[in-house]
Amino acid sequence: MATPKPERGEVLVKICSALTCGTDLKAFLRGHPMIPIPGVFGHEFSGVIAEIAEGVAGFSPGDEIMSVHSAPCLECPYCRKGLFNLCENIMKTKVLGAFAEYILLPTHIVKQNLFHKPAGLSFSEAAFLEPLSCVVHSMADLHVRESDRILILGAGPIGLLHLLLAKLKGAKVMITALEEERLKMAKALKADVTVMLEELPKALREFADGLGVDYVFECTGQARVWEESVHYVRRGGTVVLFGGCKSGTRVSYDAYRLHYDELILKGVFHFTPQDVKTAYSLLQGPLNVSPLISGSYPLGDVAIPFEKLSAGEGIKYAVIP
Ligand SMILES: [Zn+2]
Ligand SMILES: [Zn+2]
Repeated sequence: MATPKPERGEVLVKICSALTCGTDLKAFLRGHPMIPIPGVFGHEFSGVIAEIAEGVAGFSPGDEIMSVHSAPCLECPYCRKGLFNLCENIMKTKVLGAFAEYILLPTHIVKQNLFHKPAGLSFSEAAFLEPLSCVVHSMADLHVRESDRILILGAGPIGLLHLLLAKLKGAKVMITALEEERLKMAKALKADVTVMLEELPKALREFADGLGVDYVFECTGQARVWEESVHYVRRGGTVVLFGGCKSGTRVSYDAYRLHYDELILKGVFHFTPQDVKTAYSLLQGPLNVSPLISGSYPLGDVAIPFEKLSAGEGIKYAVIP
């Protein structure tokens, strides 16, 4: 593809690292409503500013940057309500194509979601800004406290990022996986209890004092797990449904349980500029994401990490142009 030329307010970034993501894998395997395939893809990246057009303040060519691939329009009815992640235009105006040498950042992203990369952070760590923003958003409206018990269903990249964040908040965390390898990783990241999904009901009774947990985070995107997730939460607890299921999926819940036990089922999607700022400061400070990087590949071999991910190998891979 031709290298794009930045116009007023735009910034051309030379990619230094782009990460694989579960969403990319879904797009690669079965297509995705938000990522047209065939098409360019990759949306978690960091790099160096190659060229800047007029009308951009605070950045210069050669600056090391980190960014996300979207920003709200600030004008639509949802933006006016302050629900920036639900902006009517946020998905239409996102940029894809981070598995490339260059990416062009449009004005609305430059203005809201472009940051200088701190020297202490590697380019691959900096590329976590986007997935971490999603996970920050997932917990943003909750009041997770130190004494809380949290169950995370799924120990993929998103489940593990939830684990890191929940531990930072001081909660006790139990996490499930389908593979021993993933449980080992979760243990190394300080999960209090790791358990294979099929052994969950028994392990949970002990973990949650017979009550059920305060929060469940569904991070698998499997309809069966969405449905089961309400079995593990206590009365008055919250189930956060993070993992997107295939389009057209329907799930069913026991209305009696939702009503009399006052359960909260909460869908979460994407992130707001405030979530990105929070993620940016977490990456500079207490959160170490580097254990989630399973390896790196040159751009020409971009299919290899996706083959590995579809075989259940590794968490996230860096693609380096
Ligand atoms: Zn992603
Ligand atoms: Zn909007």
